[in-house]
Amino acid sequence: MRVTRRRFLVSVSAATASAGLISRLPAWAQEVGGGTFTALRGDIGIFDAPRSGGTIGWFIGKDAVLVVDSKGPEFARACIDGIGERTERKIDTLINTHHHGDHTGGNPVFRKVVGRIVGHENVPELQRKAAEQRGNTDGQEYPDVTYSKEWSMDLGGETVSLRHLGPAHTGGDSIVHFENANIVHMGDLIFNRWCPFIDRDGGASVKGWIETLNRTIEAHDDETVFIFGHGAETFGVTGSNTDLSVQRGYLEWIWEITEKGIAAGKTAEQIAAPGLPEAFSDHVELNERLGVLGNVKVAFAEQTED
Ligand SMILES: [Zn+2]
Repeated sequence: MRVTRRRFLVSVSAATASAGLISRLPAWAQEVGGGTFTALRGDIGIFDAPRSGGTIGWFIGKDAVLVVDSKGPEFARACIDGIGERTERKIDTLINTHHHGDHTGGNPVFRKVVGRIVGHENVPELQRKAAEQRGNTDGQEYPDVTYSKEWSMDLGGETVSLRHLGPAHTGGDSIVHFENANIVHMGDLIFNRWCPFIDRDGGASVKGWIETLNRTIEAHDDETVFIFGHGAETFGVTGSNTDLSVQRGYLEWIWEITEKGIAAGKTAEQIAAPGLPEAFSDHVELNERLGVLGNVKVAFAEQTED
């Protein structure tokens, strides 16, 4: 059902973009500035565009408006405009699930309109370090409200809570839980059927990521709707516990083949050479870094250097 609806949404968006038939879009979908607003449950939904990455989550309630992740500046502007069409309230809070540019690049645009930006306590330093390496420290806005393990906020009829369960995709990941609606924004803790980016320079840990997914799967149920930072087109950027289990299985597989390969005296290249097994043949390999070899290299370093 989810896949069907997603495909329909994408094809409808493409058709309306060329024909200008915005009013024909179903109530749960509206295209704004190249992105699409999609309602999920309660007052919560996503703002996303095909192949753009860094899915924005939104809560638009009568007592509070909150956004999760800021994509890049153009999408941030379109997202703010779209929210402005839905409510008179200003956006109270922006949450950054982690420091990467496709989740914080729109922060300077949001900074002009939001009361505060919230992120894990490691985010500002990781963001600054990554910006220095790219030479664009001028284009950054950092979280001004940070936390260590847990942070929550009453949204009026809804509670949003952030949890950091240790190093995983980066050293500063937050899991964002809308408790009443039973919706969880995972940031980049899920690359839905992609070989993920494991940012070792940014504090990532394969072992920690597996543990984070174990704990998250345990903490939620079959009714929970999860939002993902990235997803293969046919699987989309929302899903269920099953999708979390698939990614946990992939990371466990990477960890195990690396462990066995090291014991057999193999290099990372030799370990990765057979490529994806049948069980993960639906996974997208975007490039070397976001592929089996890049993932094995990180697990190799983690098992031999730490
Ligand atoms: Zn990321």
